Amino acid sequence: MTCLKREIALPTRIGVGGLDHNPFEAMKPRAPRAVPAEAKNGGRVKAANVPPEGVYLPNNNRLAPHMRSPDYVQMSTAAAITLGVMPGRMHRCGCTRCLNLLLTYPEGCRANCAYCGLARHREAERDYADRNFIRVDWPAVPMGEIVARVAADGGNTPFHRMCISMITHPRSDADTVTVLKTWTSRIDPATVPVSILSNPTTMSAADVRQLKDLGADIFTVALDAATPEIFDRTRGKGVDSPHSWAKYWEVLDIARDVFGPQKFGAHIIVGMGETEYDVLMLVQRLVDMGGHSHMFCFFPEKGSLMDHLPATPRDQWRRVQLARYLIDYAQVRVEHMRFDEAGRVVDFGIPKAELDSIIDKGIAFRTSGCPGKIQEDISACDRPYGDSPPSNIASYPFQPAAADLRKIRHQLGMEKASDPYRESEELEELG
Ligand code: SF4
Repeated sequence: MTCLKREIALPTRIGVGGLDHNPFEAMKPRAPRAVPAEAKNGGRVKAANVPPEGVYLPNNNRLAPHMRSPDYVQMSTAAAITLGVMPGRMHRCGCTRCLNLLLTYPEGCRANCAYCGLARHREAERDYADRNFIRVDWPAVPMGEIVARVAADGGNTPFHRMCISMITHPRSDADTVTVLKTWTSRIDPATVPVSILSNPTTMSAADVRQLKDLGADIFTVALDAATPEIFDRTRGKGVDSPHSWAKYWEVLDIARDVFGPQKFGAHIIVGMGETEYDVLMLVQRLVDMGGHSHMFCFFPEKGSLMDHLPATPRDQWRRVQLARYLIDYAQVRVEHMRFDEAGRVVDFGIPKAELDSIIDKGIAFRTSGCPGKIQEDISACDRPYGDSPPSNIASYPFQPAAADLRKIRHQLGMEKASDPYRESEELEELG
């Protein structure tokens, strides 16, 4: 493919600190507060030992009942609304297409990742089942009730995919197997395919193979950090957390061998201090392995060790979203692109007409993740407002409308000459 040497005008809107990207030096996690002895390892919940009754809706640090996987799992607010176990509406979304399930224990996750609302240090101030995760609450629901509701809908289920998200806990591997078996005992995985969002730290090759043998369709690794330095600083030794970059890659390699091409991938959070070049080299590495990248825009999660830091400026995020889409789905390679001295994309490596056509389709700016039943490059996992507020959407959980695309072009610094972005009117129109 030929590379058109076209410079992209850098946008006029800039991020916090006068920059249009989040540099490594600025994205340092803060230190955690001390955890009182009685709160450690779910101590308060276990001491009170309140038995659960049906669905538990998180309510701002009320004492959570004693719930455990595999009998209970938590689910995203969007999934709970779609499943009908929780009232509510989502801005500009009818439902979610992915039933995101999360293993749950009074001890919570034993890792301490700096950007995560589920991290261990939060024992100091909030019970495990009351912690926010990717900006939303996660109600806890009996697994039996979930499969009964989905099975009752049969082929009419709104869900295109189910995902089991592991956390770091000694029971996590075994309970993932049980939750998967409970699901497949009532629901044909051909009707609703299953993804596993794994926790490599506790997993062996045999664990990965077992999940495949039991009917899992896609296996993903939440790498999250785009470089070894950021990984170590945000989820390894830097925050007294057990994860290692090497182990995550070991399990990614196993997943490639066990699940095969297009059936494995990695989550990456954009804007934690890597350059655009760093993250796109990683995207290319995953594509060259036969997998996909699923992108999240960094958002300062309330209560996390990075809650004082700026969200990823939309300029940086849009460039990475677009470039990632080109690498994953349009056969563009990172070597075709050009970067400036700060590692920012200044040329996407394809002719302007082709680039315009891809931008105008809007799919590049939708939430990325495992596919559903629409088409390969449209994710079932739409995670409504998991990485931004509705007032300034990062990942669109729906097809962007014409006004959204004008806003996206403005953020990219690639407005059409005939269609200048009128900020106040557009913001009003987008609500
Ligand atoms: S392992 Fe996952 S759930 Fe646990 S703290 Fe890290 S990112 Fe959060």
